[in-house]
Amino acid sequence: PEVAALVASRVLDVPDFPKPGIVFKDLMPLFADGTVFRQVIDGIVAHHGTGSFDVVAGVEARGFVVAAAIAYATGKGVVPVRKAGKLPRKTYSASYALEYGEATLEVHEDAFVAGERVLVVDDVLATGGTAGAALDLVERAGGTVSGFTVLMELGFLDGRKRLAPRTVHALLTV
Ligand code: 5GP
Repeated sequence: PEVAALVASRVLDVPDFPKPGIVFKDLMPLFADGTVFRQVIDGIVAHHGTGSFDVVAGVEARGFVVAAAIAYATGKGVVPVRKAGKLPRKTYSASYALEYGEATLEVHEDAFVAGERVLVVDDVLATGGTAGAALDLVERAGGTVSGFTVLMELGFLDGRKRLAPRTVHALLTV
């Protein structure tokens, strides 16, 4: 609850971004505040415990910020889940529907040692399409998903239901 209030205090609602009718949750003020950022990262680490995962996977691009901080704080490595066409070697790719059109995420085929436990992180869970693709990719690449964490969950979009039976940890649900 305390961390949830901190997250809430550093989010800005941006109306009509990226499209008319959408209220975008901008977490840049949270990343920019060193005290809050550290408490948020510590909150995630406290929830999962340093022994429950071997590596952290972050979803491009804001997930990279969160993933790198968790990895550094716990002495683990980072694996990027990237948008199509960015990774230089052989990849697995997963496409998913957006409100208009489609998006594709990719991960290197050799990103994980078989059975490696992977904590997957992103900044915001909305409809769950992005997370579903990222979690599938981690498993296709040989990782075992040990947890999925976001800073903020938009509860009214039901992403959590879409990801079931996988579980979602959110610092703040709105
Ligand atoms: P979903 O696939 O769950 O609909 O959307 C989640 C993805 O889009 C995440 O990678 C997240 O970064 C981005 N996203 C969607 N809506 C928002 C939002 O309101 N704020 C932020 N910061 N990211 C969002």
